[in-house]
Formats: sequence, structure tokens, C-alpha cells
Amino acid sequence: MDACFTAFDKDCDGYLNLSEFECICRALFRNDRGRVYSLSDEQVKDVFEIFDLDKDGKISRDEFTYCWNNWIKTIVRPVSAFLVIDVQNDFISGSLSISQCAAQQNGLDVIQPINRLLDTVNFDAVFYSLDWHPSDHVSFIDNLCYRKVHPSSAVTAEEAQTYDTVTFDGPHLMNQRLWPRHCVQESWGAELHKDLKVVDNSTKIYKGTNPDVDSYSVFWDNKKLTQTTLSDQLAQKGATDIYVCGLAYDVCVGATAVDALSIGYRTILIDDCCRGVDLNDIERTKKSVIKNHGVIVNTEEVKAMVEGRDRRPELGYKLAVELKRKLEMGDDGITEPAITNHISLSEEEVAA
Ligand SMILES: [Zn+2]
Repeated sequence: MDACFTAFDKDCDGYLNLSEFECICRALFRNDRGRVYSLSDEQVKDVFEIFDLDKDGKISRDEFTYCWNNWIKTIVRPVSAFLVIDVQNDFISGSLSISQCAAQQNGLDVIQPINRLLDTVNFDAVFYSLDWHPSDHVSFIDNLCYRKVHPSSAVTAEEAQTYDTVTFDGPHLMNQRLWPRHCVQESWGAELHKDLKVVDNSTKIYKGTNPDVDSYSVFWDNKKLTQTTLSDQLAQKGATDIYVCGLAYDVCVGATAVDALSIGYRTILIDDCCRGVDLNDIERTKKSVIKNHGVIVNTEEVKAMVEGRDRRPELGYKLAVELKRKLEMGDDGITEPAITNHISLSEEEVAA
């Protein structure tokens, strides 16, 4: 860390100024084929100001220690979690086969690229989520008769068709899209597809188990009443980066990616490992991920990113914003022991 500070402190005044910090960003955000990704001037300035903890316009050695431990180390050595969402029979060839939906995509298409990633990329943790509904689940259109639709509902109970959204009555009104009966617990339709590779030491996360509330995100049910075990397990692994893929792109995958970003994870959506329901909604999902500093990639880009050889500025910016949020909440992380390790930015990178 000291060597890095000294190397970038070009004018040797014992501080990093904005242009010296910009050189660090240029060394950090690049891939292993030498491509340099640029942060906008405004973003470099934002990040610089976050690490200029005492706001004196320069980064001291102490401030750089914080920056190194909390930012640079994660960027260079991320801890990755691979989250494979709902690759279950019902979504592929069963009762809610997405091939029957508007976008007419084939859920089977995700299996080969996901298996290839599992074979070739050394993720720090792997999770498989399963939509796992009780028989009386609120999202099944054939259960509509068991609950009261509110008079304000855009679609009445009598008119409602599959894929429509109704508003259910209750202490709190709840909008619910109606789906065919699917992924009933212990049924064939709820099983992971037989061709999907399930790796050792992976974890299965079950969602949608409450009969009265649906759950698109693997983190939370749609009303944020109950959390799955995912957050705790990610924290246990010390995960920094979440790679999200599976079915359906614009429903459970999208909701999970957006939740991961809102919780504060550096989030990567793997486009060619996702298939969805509606093309417009898929576009909306992508826009929302990008807007929140997530990244959308294809499978061939994943390995280098997981290994810290391809370092994206969007994810660096996202992490800096999260650190700022923590600092503002008074959790400054400065007490964390400074660990000297082998991370270094090479001379060649310094020169670039
Ligand atoms: Zn479901």
C-alpha cells in the first residue's frame, strides 16, 4: 500500500491530489488485454471527495489507507457469489413455460451457458434459488376465488385472465399478477431442470413459500415482509460481487438484481444466461440495473471479472457510493485492521 501511495504521489508532497488519484483510477479500471475503462471526470471527483475524509482537497496517507482497505482491495480481489435463479421445470417446459409468454423465449437456452460458467469460473459461493409455492399460493389464477379482489382493482375477479394484475383486498391492498399454477412444493415442476449442473458446496434458497405473498426477488418477498436466508449467507461468505442469471429475466432475475443493488452489492447481470417473459420488460430491467451502477455482461466476460483481472468502473463507483453511505451513517470501517497483502498496481500500470 505504501509503495502504491508513493508511486502515485508524483509531486512527492505526501498527498494525492485529484490528478494523481485519477492516475490510480486509470490503473485500476482496465481489463487484462490493456483496455482502460474511464470513469467520467465527475465520477472521479465524486470518488476522490469520498476518500478525502477531512475534505481538505487532498488524500493523506491515512485517508489512502482507508481507500486501500475498503475500496481498492475489493476492486482487485472481489469475493464473488453466483446466483442461479429459478431454472426449474415449470418455467422451461411445464405449466409456466416462458416459451408461451410474449417474448417467446426458450428457458432451456440458459442451461448450457450457466453450466459452462460453473465448469470454468471459480466463484467463491454458488446459490440456486427455487420458486417454492404452497398449493394455495396467491399468485395462482385458480386460487383467485379464495381471496377478495378490492373494488379499486383495474381488473375484476370475473374478468381476470392469466398474466393480468389484480388488486387484492386486505389490511393492505396488494397488486398481484396472476400466473398459472406453478412450482408447487415437491412437484416435478418445482425441481431444478435435470441438465442444470448443481455443484458441491452450493446452497439452495427457497422463496415464495408464504401462501399470501409472492416473491420475485431471492432476497425478499414482494411486500418485504420476510427475508430469505440469502443476505445472511452472502454476509457469511463476505461476498462483494453478485452475479445474477436465470429465469425469468424481467421477473425474478430483475427483481433480485435490483434488490442486490439496493442492499449495496456490486451487481452483475449475465445477459446470455437469462431468458424472460416480455421484451419491453426485459429492456426496463436492463435500464434499471445500469441506472443503479450495475453491469450487464455476457458469459465470456465473467471469468476475468471474478478473478479481478477485468475491473469495471461502474462497480468501483457503486462501491464508493456505498462507502459514502456507510461513512454518513457513522460506520467508518477505519478500525478494520490494515492488512498488508500482495495487491499491487504494476509499474507498467503506473506508467500508463
Ligand atoms: Zn412463482
